[in-house]
Amino acid sequence: MPRMTINGRLADAVRTLDVLNPANAQLLDRAPCCSAEQLDEAVSAARTAFAAWRDTPLEERRATLRACAARVREHRDALARLITLEQGKPTATAQREVMGAARWIEHTAGLEPPSESVPLDASRVAQVIRRPYGVVGAIVPWNYPIMSAAWKIAPALLTGNTVVLKPSPYTPLATLHLGELLLDLLPPGVLNIVSGTDEVGASMASHPGIRKISFTGSIATGQKVYAAAARDVKGLTLELGGNDPAIVLGDVDPIAVAARIYAAAFENAGQVCSAIKRVYVHRSRHDELVSELASLATKAIVGSGLEEGVTIGPLSNAQQYHRVLDLMAAARADGGVFAAGKPGPLPRPGYFIAPAIVTGLTDRSRLVAEEQFGPVLPVLPYDEVSEAIDRANATSFGLSASVWSADVAQARALAPRVEAGTVWINQHMSILPQLPTVGLKSSGFGAENGIWGLECYLQIQTVSAAS
Ligand code: NAD
Repeated sequence: MPRMTINGRLADAVRTLDVLNPANAQLLDRAPCCSAEQLDEAVSAARTAFAAWRDTPLEERRATLRACAARVREHRDALARLITLEQGKPTATAQREVMGAARWIEHTAGLEPPSESVPLDASRVAQVIRRPYGVVGAIVPWNYPIMSAAWKIAPALLTGNTVVLKPSPYTPLATLHLGELLLDLLPPGVLNIVSGTDEVGASMASHPGIRKISFTGSIATGQKVYAAAARDVKGLTLELGGNDPAIVLGDVDPIAVAARIYAAAFENAGQVCSAIKRVYVHRSRHDELVSELASLATKAIVGSGLEEGVTIGPLSNAQQYHRVLDLMAAARADGGVFAAGKPGPLPRPGYFIAPAIVTGLTDRSRLVAEEQFGPVLPVLPYDEVSEAIDRANATSFGLSASVWSADVAQARALAPRVEAGTVWINQHMSILPQLPTVGLKSSGFGAENGIWGLECYLQIQTVSAAS
């Protein structure tokens, strides 16, 4: 059984939780379930480590992060195998996740935390400096365990904070292994990794020793974290769910764009916060696009992520599997037509669903209105671009969106009208370490990545002297 990293040591489990393999629904391993005392110990270690880590020269912190990135890269295969076993994604996708995490850590290591001088008059200059919070509590979901962890660990540590990180109870194994791998590279207490149930996350969100929470997960849980963090006015970043629309204009050749739309909808079996979750296509292109997407879906190879050639693994856990099956049944009941796939599970053990393309729904259908987070994509026709934008915006989600057009200038002009933190043009899910990932509306606040993400781990302090 893997162990937690607390205060520079591997901590034994007092209690455990079961981790299942979604490809067969069998017990894969057990993981520690962090006790209240162990969480206190991790937070206290992070608090103690903070002063020295904050005062460590920035160049040394950069070098440490670069060494962490190299260590992650060296252990790509072991980390990827654990991700596939506990989360389900195909090996090649898991390997990309690990290499992406290393790339993100390395990129973040090179960023420059801002600080400004403000001239007040001929003789006086005030400083606006940036201070780390102290202990950051990082809480992550199950869809990209190592990537999500890297997105939080790297900027928090570069800016001089220390971290207590909790992976999802569904996917603790790769993250616990990451803690072991980085153990000798970081001073004790700088990075603590604790695994456990949702209650451990709730205890972190209300822990008086944690000064900032960086949370990625569902809107429902984000609301609870928001309320808990309000008690002692912690800093907070919320990266929550999305229901990303792709708006395909009438000037687009559906055959040319279908593969990119399909890839951005079905990556990781659709379990990506910023996957395409609904497609609005001009009525003149609807049938062609549906037929091309359906043909791609029919060619998908569904199976265990460890099998050669598999393109779609199982859903990650029973809860998500049943939720997606329920949304598919609701879509069928609403009159949805399955151009590919069919409502219901595949007849094999594990949480497998064949990718589905669904037409004939209205925006009120739950499959369109809710975040499916699974391999089922609704396609809806529209007549006027402004109608498509209004329908895309008629939701409380605001994570990301895309506009597809042969006329890039026209698409750029439409982008500001789309209520989403990122608007891609002729692409979707092109997430880069140098650009901020942000949510509008109920999809959250604060940024991850780039200089904007770094700023979210820093507080502003004004220093202004009399003449
Ligand atoms: P979730 O909200 O159920 O859980 C996320 C994490 O929060 C887990 O570690 C969980 O144990 C913990 N948690 C649960 N209850 C808690 C509480 N009361 N207080 C503190 N922590 C608690 O989300 P999930 O099902 O693991 O992930 C799927 C969701 O995450 C989807 O909605 C998806 O869109 C979203 N997501 C968003 C992004 C983004 O960047 N915007 C990225 C990935 C996933």
